[in-house]
Amino acid sequence: MKRIAILGATGSIGTSTLDVVARHPDRFRATALAAHRSVEALAALCERFRPELAVIADPDGEPELRARLVAAGVATRVLAGPDALVEAAAGDHADTVVAAIVGAAGLPSTLAAARAGKRLLLANKEAVVMAGPLLLAALAAGGGPLLPIDSEHNAIYQCLPNGSAGIAGAGVRRLLLTASGGPFRGWQAERLAAVTPDMACAHPNWRMGRKISVDSATLMNKGLEVIEAHVLFGAPADAIEVVVHRQSIVHSLVEYLDGSVLAQLGQPDMRTAIAYGLAWPERIEAGVKPLDLVQLARLDFEAADGATFRCLPLAYAALRAGGNAPAILNAANEEAVAAFLDGRVKFPDIPSIIEETLQKVSHRAVDALDALFDDDLTARRQAQRIIAARFS
Ligand code: NAD
Ligand code: MG
Repeated sequence: MKRIAILGATGSIGTSTLDVVARHPDRFRATALAAHRSVEALAALCERFRPELAVIADPDGEPELRARLVAAGVATRVLAGPDALVEAAAGDHADTVVAAIVGAAGLPSTLAAARAGKRLLLANKEAVVMAGPLLLAALAAGGGPLLPIDSEHNAIYQCLPNGSAGIAGAGVRRLLLTASGGPFRGWQAERLAAVTPDMACAHPNWRMGRKISVDSATLMNKGLEVIEAHVLFGAPADAIEVVVHRQSIVHSLVEYLDGSVLAQLGQPDMRTAIAYGLAWPERIEAGVKPLDLVQLARLDFEAADGATFRCLPLAYAALRAGGNAPAILNAANEEAVAAFLDGRVKFPDIPSIIEETLQKVSHRAVDALDALFDDDLTARRQAQRIIAARFS
């Protein structure tokens, strides 16, 4: 029986994870569930899954969560506050941790799970982008396996001979990350000024949280994924290519020196990657519809438009710059996306805010978590100043 902690249990990935868990009561038990401030949703999950521990990151939600659990006769222990996420990630109640919090808020718990040697199912890509070297060091110290849940990285993992060892010694020429192109694929830059948050969140192939949906629409999601692939598989920027594939059926590919190209295909349904990570090295039923190639009939590929969707080249530049640049990129993006979702800036302002933040915050090498969070905060403040000065 695997004992699973799900951080971000109320979100899109968290919900898909619990769906897979519920299909296999003989194999999996959800022992800890954590969320930000959605007390009602978390209480409902506790009633259904009866975990040992529930964590509400926003302490204001604690009294209501406790009251709801008492009223429902649920004996789950409740902890509150950001530090409790670390307890949920590293405590003895779980051997497997699903890191599915969105944004930098997931970094401390992701690192804690790695350091504690848990099987780490990693969806929280912002943590990898911010702190790649620290995460690799924590994994080495803890000795547990990392299973990528981001569909592209899960695909690459499946196409490498020994996924966790990355491309080293595997005879790999390139990693090819597929991108759906988002809802505005093929649009000219002028049209993007009229994009609303709801338009940006209406992804053609995937139903996801609002932040990653906006990232998919700007192509920053692919930019973050390029950096994530560099960290997880040890590939240099020049060996990571993005190709637009609008059907989201080919989840990514690995090209070998001999000309072989291996791909992983499947429905655009995150339960495949989640089930792979939960059961690895076994395979289990995930509730995913089989792929009907005849009905599908065709798969299309085209080049990514980095001139219109400037977040993608900005992410490559941050990867090449190294040091704290990916963390600055991520922080500026989180602030710009939040401002866009609040209606404070327009869609095309997102890359401009990130570019200016990258220019204004000093670049340096960082090897400690404190320094990284200092630079994260500096970048957020800088991005907020740019937003206030230019867009209010
Ligand atoms: P979501 O917005 O649907 O869910 C986010 C979850 O994180 C919620 O449970 C929320 O309560 C929790 N959370 C948010 N802020 C928090 C905080 N400060 N402290 C504690 N918990 C907090 O997001 P999602 O779409 O499930 O994405 C989660 C992560 O997985 C993101 O990093 C995203 O990039 C990645 N990811 C998602 C998908 C997808 O299909 N949804 C695919 C690949 C990768
Ligand atoms: Mg992805």
